[in-house]
Amino acid sequence: MTRIVAIGECMVEMASAGADIYRMGFAGDTMNTAWYLRRLLGEADQVDYFTAVGTDDLSDRMVTFLQDAGLGTDHIQRRRDLSVGLYTIQLQDGERSFSYWRGQSAARSLARDARALMSALTQADVAYLSGITLAILPAPDRATLLRSLGEFKAAGGQVVLDPNLRPKLWEDEDTMRRVVTEAASVSDVVLPSHEDEASWFGDAAPAATANRYASQGSALIIVKNGAGQILAWQDGNVSLHDPVTVSDVVDTTAAGDSFNAGFLACWFNGSSVAEAVQSGAGLAAQVVQSRGALVS
Ligand code: ADP
Repeated sequence: MTRIVAIGECMVEMASAGADIYRMGFAGDTMNTAWYLRRLLGEADQVDYFTAVGTDDLSDRMVTFLQDAGLGTDHIQRRRDLSVGLYTIQLQDGERSFSYWRGQSAARSLARDARALMSALTQADVAYLSGITLAILPAPDRATLLRSLGEFKAAGGQVVLDPNLRPKLWEDEDTMRRVVTEAASVSDVVLPSHEDEASWFGDAAPAATANRYASQGSALIIVKNGAGQILAWQDGNVSLHDPVTVSDVVDTTAAGDSFNAGFLACWFNGSSVAEAVQSGAGLAAQVVQSRGALVS
């Protein structure tokens, strides 16, 4: 049995469904991975979502959505004065554009209380977070989260990080690079996407991405690369793996999030790196052939 706690922000998604009509859903990188993990893992395994939401109807609906998806919500914190973040997806001439309202979201306060964090992590085997989780926090709370993860790791827990570099969410690029690097130093597994890492760290090739995170002490690094080969670095051994060929890519939303879930579900069950990468690539290939983040 594996108990995983995913930490981050879930948002309300309003997707354009015709003139002046929006369909409401819920999504967010760490939640997407938790959602897929819940479907892939066994009954005995537990996947919790750790975040902060408000006390309004929209927050209640989000928590109900998470519960209906089978995710544990016992440690979700409620903030009376705040609500959840929201984004819209508009379609214009076949292109999707996004607008966000997340600056004041309750999730930004998720790491305000170190005791709440440690209580959520008690008895967990794995903590899963992303660079977006860190980006949305005030600087002192980032330190609290990383310190808590360090304690969790020291007590035998595994930390898994997807750097998910989104400079727009950070105060500046240097801070993003510094904090993500610091997060990698408390992570056992790092799951970066080479395109992002090349853009913001200047990595010339996936091997450079793997080596950079390896230098922080992570034991396992899987570098995703869109339709390109996936590079796995495990304790100094490098292997390359082909993704699943997709002829009709419809929407790459949550490609990386679903890959992570497919990979981790296999990895936690004792599969080899090669098998786990194939599982991640297989799930991501299905996801990019459908619209939306959560493909049932
Ligand atoms: P992210 O969504 O985080 O930017 P990537 O674009 O690197 O991540 O994609 C993650 C994984 O999704 C890839 O490793 C691959 O397995 C799969 N994937 C993404 N795009 C494609 C594609 N065009 N064809 C096949 N697989 C893809």
